[in-house]
Amino acid sequence: MRKFPVGQIQLAVLDDGCFPFPAALFFHNVPEAVWRTQLETDAQGKIPVGHNYGLVDTGREVIVIDTGYGEDTHDGRTGHLLEELERAGYRREQVGIVILTHAHGDHIKRNTLLQSGKRIPTFPHARYHLARADHDWFGGPGHVQEFDEQIVPLEELGLLVLFDGQTQLAPGILLLPTPGHTPGHASVLIESQGQSVLFLGDVCHHPLHFAHPEWVSAFDTHPALTPQTRARLFSLALERDALLVCPHALAPGLGRLQRDGGSYRWQTLH
Ligand SMILES: [Zn+2]
Repeated sequence: MRKFPVGQIQLAVLDDGCFPFPAALFFHNVPEAVWRTQLETDAQGKIPVGHNYGLVDTGREVIVIDTGYGEDTHDGRTGHLLEELERAGYRREQVGIVILTHAHGDHIKRNTLLQSGKRIPTFPHARYHLARADHDWFGGPGHVQEFDEQIVPLEELGLLVLFDGQTQLAPGILLLPTPGHTPGHASVLIESQGQSVLFLGDVCHHPLHFAHPEWVSAFDTHPALTPQTRARLFSLALERDALLVCPHALAPGLGRLQRDGGSYRWQTLH
């Protein structure tokens, strides 16, 4: 857990956990011999992948950005979001807004808790916000089991709010459509008193994606959109001099974007 102020807003990065993952899946359209010149893996071709999510306290609203792996713990290595929330000094009952950057399992599996065989909302007083395009995709052609477990129960309780396009959720909290990884993928711009933090979501999975915005992951549903979404978001990050949160970089997933000749470079902040 890493906690710091952004102007008058308090931000915490919650570490849901880390486990080794096949690197090749992040560079799906790149020959292995090419990405291997820039990245070392273990003997199985795996690299450690972090899962860093957000807690934002605007003073009026407590907001969680993505809910993590929940009961899917990878032998105890993931699913730590609620412990991290407590470490940051918050209770789940205080959360009024949950932002889901997209509907993939690693970002939504703690939307609910299992109680007596029934799925109940983890954050009982929250409205959960998801882009309509992701709702329609993962409830339809891109259907995943997590959708039935983690989205449908919220919808039935009237707790799911579907948004379209750029959406100001609260003062200083702006949802930006960033399609490519999924059709309704959203990033979150957090701003207060001239300071900016950009929670990227899965626009980039690995720091090498900043230097090589045309390298895309196997999980992108609309990979042709990913490079142009990155170009747009990178310009915004530089324009605002924003601190970045890259959820799947190693904890705490914080960094800055630097220009590197005609390209970009990710600078990790510890
Ligand atoms: Zn992810």
